[in-house]
Amino acid sequence: MAVKGRFAPSPSGRMHLGNLFSFLLAWLSARHEGGSLVLRIEDLDPVRCLPSHAWQLMEDLEWLGLNWDEGGDTASYWQSSRSHLYAAAFAALEAKGLTYPCFCSRIQRLNEAPHVHQVSPSCPCAGLTPEEVAAHRLEKTPSHRLRVPHKTISFTDGLQGSYSQDLATECGDFPIRRSDGAWAYQLAVVVDDAAMGVTQVVRGRDLLSSTPRQLWLYEALGLPAPEFYHVPLLLAPDGRRLAKRDADLDMGALRRRYSPAELLGLLAQMAGQRPSAAPVSALELAKTFDWVKVPREDISVTPELLT
Ligand code: GLU
Repeated sequence: MAVKGRFAPSPSGRMHLGNLFSFLLAWLSARHEGGSLVLRIEDLDPVRCLPSHAWQLMEDLEWLGLNWDEGGDTASYWQSSRSHLYAAAFAALEAKGLTYPCFCSRIQRLNEAPHVHQVSPSCPCAGLTPEEVAAHRLEKTPSHRLRVPHKTISFTDGLQGSYSQDLATECGDFPIRRSDGAWAYQLAVVVDDAAMGVTQVVRGRDLLSSTPRQLWLYEALGLPAPEFYHVPLLLAPDGRRLAKRDADLDMGALRRRYSPAELLGLLAQMAGQRPSAAPVSALELAKTFDWVKVPREDISVTPELLT
């Protein structure tokens, strides 16, 4: 089966070196196999996500030669225009009795069980009777949670190896719709990757612990799951994770300092694909791309890159 990869950026700021590192690996992995890529804009959060960031991101990817085959400026690939699909998936889960309204306030929940992923394994709302739900609804609009099974979800990550999570004890029933009606990332990403025929998800290691929740959603919705590769995060020399606030490593600053080939050379060396940071094109890198050479552990960027 042909590989179909994806870029799934949240347009909440200018892309930085860490985002670029994951996108490059997603692109190389798909292109090395002669596969295609989707660019989906994950703009579920209307406050943080701006169309201008999405346009800039597309321009930055094109500057680097990281192209895609579907999506991008096509409106139907923006999550903000895909609510009907999330609503349909939600209805299917509801029909299976897998969802329930939750009236807990976020603060209350965090205080209950701060040690377990900030989520309580047992939500008191899971056992409310229809009468109790109706009474609560008069006071408050609920969020909605997905019930998780009492079983361990295991999978083999293409880079990180085997990973398991007992959702009931390590995660708990998790939100799929907020009380203001916004759809949760976990639901949207599964519905979209399945609807778009994505077969390979390459993304940052920070999302590894979300994957069992997503695998449960694939199972509950009767959808085929893609393969996953969780790639290292880039760290500043002091050990903190690079973030969009590190303006010195955003694409604006990087484009002033480097040509596309120079920047790809730096990233290729960090990704274990080249012995040096000599300039190289994306197409050239795709020819010899090899997952075996990609490091598993997070990568500290050199101080020279930050100055
Ligand atoms: N939109 C998410 C982000 O930018 C990535 C989601 C994913 O790759 O599953 O962090």
